[in-house]
Amino acid sequence: MSLPEPLSDPIVGIDLGTTNSLVAICDGAGPRVLCNEVGERMIPSAVRYSQGVAVAVGSAARRAAAEYACDTVMSAKRLMGRSFEEARARAGAGGDVSQLCASARGLAALRVGGAEVLPQEVAAVILRELRRIAELQLGVTVHRAVITVPAYFDDGQRQATRDAARIAGLDAVRIVNEPTAAALAYGIGSRGRAETIAVYDFGGGTFDVSILQVIPDDGSGDGDLFRVLATAGDTHLGGDDLDDELAQYFARTVGAAPSRALRDLAESTKIALSLHAHVDVEIDGVLGKPLQKRVTRLEFEAMIRPWVHKTIDACARVVRDAGSVSIDRVVMVGGSTRIPLVRQLVGEFFDREPYTALDPDLVVALGAAVQASVLRGDRRDVLLLDVIPLSLGIETVGGAVAKLLTRNAMIPARATELFSTSVDNQTSVRLQVLQGEREMACDCRSLATFELRGLPAMPAGIPQVEVVFLVDANGVLHVTAVERRSGCRASVQVVPAYGLTTDEIERIERESLVHARADMHQHRVVDLAVNSALDIKWIDEALRKTRSELTGQYVASLEGLLTQLRSFVEQARANARDVDANAFFAAKDALDRASVHLHELSIARSLREIPLAHMKGPHE
Ligand code: ADP
Ligand code: MG
Repeated sequence: MSLPEPLSDPIVGIDLGTTNSLVAICDGAGPRVLCNEVGERMIPSAVRYSQGVAVAVGSAARRAAAEYACDTVMSAKRLMGRSFEEARARAGAGGDVSQLCASARGLAALRVGGAEVLPQEVAAVILRELRRIAELQLGVTVHRAVITVPAYFDDGQRQATRDAARIAGLDAVRIVNEPTAAALAYGIGSRGRAETIAVYDFGGGTFDVSILQVIPDDGSGDGDLFRVLATAGDTHLGGDDLDDELAQYFARTVGAAPSRALRDLAESTKIALSLHAHVDVEIDGVLGKPLQKRVTRLEFEAMIRPWVHKTIDACARVVRDAGSVSIDRVVMVGGSTRIPLVRQLVGEFFDREPYTALDPDLVVALGAAVQASVLRGDRRDVLLLDVIPLSLGIETVGGAVAKLLTRNAMIPARATELFSTSVDNQTSVRLQVLQGEREMACDCRSLATFELRGLPAMPAGIPQVEVVFLVDANGVLHVTAVERRSGCRASVQVVPAYGLTTDEIERIERESLVHARADMHQHRVVDLAVNSALDIKWIDEALRKTRSELTGQYVASLEGLLTQLRSFVEQARANARDVDANAFFAAKDALDRASVHLHELSIARSLREIPLAHMKGPHE
């Protein structure tokens, strides 16, 4: 794969966050977040000072924050462009005001490391670090950036952000609202449709929700317009509050006072509960004896529900403020939106499945990079097509690909297909979502994997798993799997166009032509192997049950054919490429025909099996 050309005079996209900051670029390979030399993409927005000089930034500053509490600035963004009085009033009862002081001009400033710094100066240190990371990764000098700010930032706060950029040697070519950036990352607005979207951003220390109206480019070439209709939120509500809730519960459980260690344990437990139904934790007890405790997701949800309801109240407020508009899409931003309860309640409130395909930590930075590439005028590199550029499907038994949507299908597009299990009493199915033109999963690009769990035990081939692929108007792929009998369901979202260039699509297409014959052969052999294995299993069982009713000669001929087919299955499993598919087919066909009599006997015993793991369903 050829690497994208280095951009000369690039414009980077920067998410200057309260807790973490990121820098991203959009080049020939689409938008991506850049990482520092130790592989970090999220740079903690923390700076440590000593005698008025910044001596540590990012993780280094965050790690030692407890040790150098007085010298380390965190969350400086909350003070950006505010007056001292305003900042003090807003910090409220819970806010930390120990570093807050008034500058000579009455602005909010911070007393750290024996000197006084303005929040702009702190932000500049973070921006300089992001600029350094970008220059390191891109190998060119960077002096232009698109920087995001919350939608509720006023002119003063926006100007403070520009000033910070200037101090860092960056020209802030555009200040973009964070919700607008999130929408841009999803390609919203790029297809010439007017839409109203809600952006729900639930981070570590802040929460906000905005309603945006997208007005498509009127042909003047100025680009789409994103208008903020309304915004609401709370600058002191975030994942930290959920950690506190759980830490207090832990503290009560062991009869200790809440501590830093308990909060850290609470955060890791919270994160694990986003994935698992329960987590076993070990809490250090007061007597030095660790206490084992199981926390279930249900218990955690009961603890955090009031907080999540607060965010939903804000959603109700913002919709009202926007004039009770109807919402076309909901975009999720911020680490706390990984919590299933948050997704569920937001989905229920807006009556739409929210967008979660892009990493909620990266989506704002990615969108800033998209905006930067629009400003540079090299947007044509970004794939925003009205057709599906490459086929989409899922892996079936044996590593073959069942394509549900083929390339060049117009979007929005939808397809449904029925699948079943290949092993008796399978209680979970792993689904791998694939993209590409080749026949085998290993030759395609894996977009996502997810699991359908909790299936009732049934013989192989009996469960009916309906898989639905929906590529919506913005190119977001929603995959849902439902087992029809039990109603078990699971779903995942991805953006298939991410990270693909037009060149790459052409290469994938070329390769599929080169390998077409070999791939078809392999797919055929793998399917034959899967179906033969099911036949063999079935015939073995039927033989065992009906042997007394059969002649010795018939049994011997069936067993001969079974042995022959078994050896083909084994060869296929070892190396499908080298199997003679026609001979394999002939062996299967011979057994099929010879077993008709056995079938008839078995049907009489009402032994019915569905032989295929892959059943074609009706396309919608
Ligand atoms: P901010 O916008 O304030 O900079 P982020 O968007 O980075 O914050 O979100 C950080 C918050 O997300 C933290 O409270 C963190 O614990 C939480 N978080 C991160 N991953 C998960 C997860 N998988 N489940 C629940 N919370 C998470
Ligand atoms: Mg954020």
